[in-house]
Amino acid sequence: MTTTLSGPVRVRFAPSPTGNLHVGGARTAIYNELLVKSLGGAFILRIEDTDRERSDDAKTRQIIDAMHWLGISVDEGPFLQSERYARHSERAAELLSKGLAYRDFRSSEAIEEVRKRAHAEGVTLKSLAPEPTAEETERRLAAGDPSVVRFRMPEEEIVVHDLVRGDVSFPAEVHEDLVILRADGSPTYHLSVVCDDIDMAVDLVLRGEDHLSNTPKHIALFRALGATVPRFGHLPLILGADKKRLSKRTGATSVEEFQSQGILPQALYNYLVLLGWSPGDDREVMTKDEIVAAFTAARLGGSASVFDVDKLAWMNTQYMVNLSDDEFMPQAKTFLPAVGLAAEANSERMARALTLHRVRSANLVELAEQVGIYFSDEVEFDETLSRKYLRKDENLVSHLTELSRRFATSDFTVDALDGVLRALAEEVGVGAGALIHPTRMALSGSKSGPPLFDLVALMGSERTEARMAQYGEYLAALPPEAEG
Ligand code: GLU
Repeated sequence: MTTTLSGPVRVRFAPSPTGNLHVGGARTAIYNELLVKSLGGAFILRIEDTDRERSDDAKTRQIIDAMHWLGISVDEGPFLQSERYARHSERAAELLSKGLAYRDFRSSEAIEEVRKRAHAEGVTLKSLAPEPTAEETERRLAAGDPSVVRFRMPEEEIVVHDLVRGDVSFPAEVHEDLVILRADGSPTYHLSVVCDDIDMAVDLVLRGEDHLSNTPKHIALFRALGATVPRFGHLPLILGADKKRLSKRTGATSVEEFQSQGILPQALYNYLVLLGWSPGDDREVMTKDEIVAAFTAARLGGSASVFDVDKLAWMNTQYMVNLSDDEFMPQAKTFLPAVGLAAEANSERMARALTLHRVRSANLVELAEQVGIYFSDEVEFDETLSRKYLRKDENLVSHLTELSRRFATSDFTVDALDGVLRALAEEVGVGAGALIHPTRMALSGSKSGPPLFDLVALMGSERTEARMAQYGEYLAALPPEAEG
């Protein structure tokens, strides 16, 4: 940002519910929220559902849910723009009656033709397509001809004092009169957005750079409607790995997709905050309280940032390890029904399993898959590894049988189980590893995971016994290796 801001501020996030919440939109929402948290004021949520063909209630719901999931809270709203049609029409009528807007009977195709010619000739649209005269307007209105209402743009330079980009000038020649009411009487985006910002007393508009070219139009409308022009800031785009605007080509783009990939909301929030802002020191993993305390609009950057999925994955592992149980567990549990563990989600054993495995999984999807071993009766053993264990200890089957027998009479604590295994290894003259690795395979079907005795203790005596017996049978039945 180029200017230091003072508060309080009234800001808004104004998504159009035509799809899921894009991470770019989420970042805009987050910065607006942070502005209010750092400067005081109010954060308004306004759903811009005026494009009824592309908007629907389910998408509105999804956007609100995604914001809620990310932990973004608003002070006012959600308001639905579509419920404010009457007000928008009223303000258009006011502009008409003041002579600041006019009726235009030309079709958009006809105007497009003239625009092309104007472009080719390097002249303004208006010089080739002047406004209809008063007589023409009267005659065609009386004849019932369809018309749009066009707002007359001032013939002067408009400078956007952009809080992120500095001054951006739009010379008089680029302005074109803009449609504010369509032929069916419905208000257009430009009119609605300005009317609502005025009525909601928004005094700072922080939005995506894709709206920068709309801003001179909006400034002119604010002035024509007799309102104070808010301050504006336009945030640079988020780019994909291909350095083009982030899109499906390079992977996930919506908050929902990251949610379903098992990313924690706190990690995504933290990651998005850093995509265009920095605390001014080398901190990266920051709680929301720390972010709020460090946030100043002056450090919002003006250049585009690349969305780095590896960095997000790294950020997520930080939160997998460090997030408080209160915040972590409810998120983790939402992934359990998908792996058939809905019924166990609130058990004591599940809490222990999640705690043991959260530090060993990259995300909540992986975590849910990992904890399945404590609740299922199916283990798949790895043949190659099993043969390797057998080569190391030709009496492995009988050693495992004995180990299982001893486990059965042991306390199921980490220390006791550890003592039992080591004592047996020593007695039979093998290294502890020769028993540890096969026992892990017996219980989890894997060669890696949490410390073995944590795993055994959590598995419990009954399942441990059953799996070790099952693995013993599997080993005994392995067909002999082909010579060679
Ligand atoms: N509804 C617009 C959009 O989703 C945003 C309008 C604005 O922020 O002014 O792109």
